[in-house]
Amino acid sequence: MSNEQKDQKPEVEQTATPSISEFDAVHPRFVKENPEDVVKYEQEHYYYCEQCRMYFAPTFEALRVHFDKEIITHEPIGSCFYCKGNVFGYKKSGQLRAYHNCPE
Ligand SMILES: [Zn+2]
Ligand SMILES: [Zn+2]
Repeated sequence: MSNEQKDQKPEVEQTATPSISEFDAVHPRFVKENPEDVVKYEQEHYYYCEQCRMYFAPTFEALRVHFDKEIITHEPIGSCFYCKGNVFGYKKSGQLRAYHNCPE
């Protein structure tokens, strides 16, 4: 019944009984510190390069850095129909995708 009356008269002196919900909830940051969860998260959301055997961030910028900056030389999976440039393969959730950046 005390919950019902809370709206009627606001009490400021609630410091003795703090809300437990925020502190008891499992914080996402703590979950991510579990190595198995991190691996699982990467497998589901990150891009994977089979030639490097590494995951990288699922963004266009990360793709560009990974394949264009030539930290290592990637073996192309094909060539572009238009500009004959190299097309590189990467995986998302186990599915092969192609990366290619046509020059203007
Ligand atoms: Zn790679
Ligand atoms: Zn092209």
